[in-house]
Amino acid sequence: MRTILLIFRILSGILLLVSFYFAFKRVISPVLRKRKEPQGVDLVEDPICHTYLPQAKAIEYRHKGHTYFFCSRACTLAFEKREADR
Ligand SMILES: [Zn+2]
Repeated sequence: MRTILLIFRILSGILLLVSFYFAFKRVISPVLRKRKEPQGVDLVEDPICHTYLPQAKAIEYRHKGHTYFFCSRACTLAFEKREADR
């Protein structure tokens, strides 16, 4: 009788560990998945060529209280020219 009780205890212990493992996995895996994806990068749109690029790589240009982001100097100049022509 004692051995049956012991086996039962071991089994319930394993069951508890397994359910803990799945609960842990459920909580942790979305966090890990988020970290792997480069989702923290803010993408900005170049108003000239409409390319999306990371804000860190973009050329920042302030114009009339607005901040614009460009992929290259050429696009910045094209924007300056377009705004000057207005
Ligand atoms: Zn561009």
